[in-house]
Amino acid sequence: MRKVIIAGNWKMNKTLSESIELANLIKRSLYDMTEIEVVICPPYTSLSDVSEIVRDSAVKLGAQDVHWEKEGAFTGEVSCSMLKSVGCEYVIIGHSERRQFFGETNETVNKKAKAALAAGLRPIVCVGEKLGEREEGKTFDVVKDHVENSLAGLSKDEMLRVVIAYEPVWAIGTGVNATKEQAEEVHAYIRRLLKKKYDDSTARLVRIQYGGSVKPDNISQLIGQEDVDGALVGGASLKADSFIDIVKGCLK
Ligand code: PEP
Repeated sequence: MRKVIIAGNWKMNKTLSESIELANLIKRSLYDMTEIEVVICPPYTSLSDVSEIVRDSAVKLGAQDVHWEKEGAFTGEVSCSMLKSVGCEYVIIGHSERRQFFGETNETVNKKAKAALAAGLRPIVCVGEKLGEREEGKTFDVVKDHVENSLAGLSKDEMLRVVIAYEPVWAIGTGVNATKEQAEEVHAYIRRLLKKKYDDSTARLVRIQYGGSVKPDNISQLIGQEDVDGALVGGASLKADSFIDIVKGCLK
């Protein structure tokens, strides 16, 4: 059985005091939510304080990116051990905004995923096509390229600790979510890729989240799909009520 996982990507939002307020509200409501795995991913500057807030609760902590090197002269970067030291269990890697604005490639995503796994972090690896690619009928090609190359060289055991987030770029922050049929079609395709690369049981066990304009009013349709195992939530994770409603929407 795959446990549903809902992760909130706060992106470059929330000062320290705002993060503390939001984390406290989420924790108050979801501290004992064991049916669904709940992860919040604040900006780096808030990780340490948010970690203290969610400690001893069911809410887990993630970061939004990481560097693959262990330490050294990489100004502005943060290492896996630094994330571990502030209580992170998860790290988002290869988000489309990093691919689009910060030169992230499958190759760097792969290095980061391997470093995260080696350090005991669980990577949430993002894949997904742009609008033009979908319109040109290239969705499956792009997703295959992202999945195969971003996750190249991972053992079966490593793969089982990865969460894949299918995030069609045209659905991120636009208010236009993929329909449940569009999401399911790609999720099922990703599972077939995993089956081909590994085996049936690995493919059945890896969790695949959907991301892109997930809201309280569309989560139950999406989560009702056979191969949708959760959501990576951007905008709607910035308000406690909508994030909590999305989590609770998965229980129905
Ligand atoms: C995201 O950035 O991962 C995302 C899914 O954003 P939003 O929910 O705002 O579309």
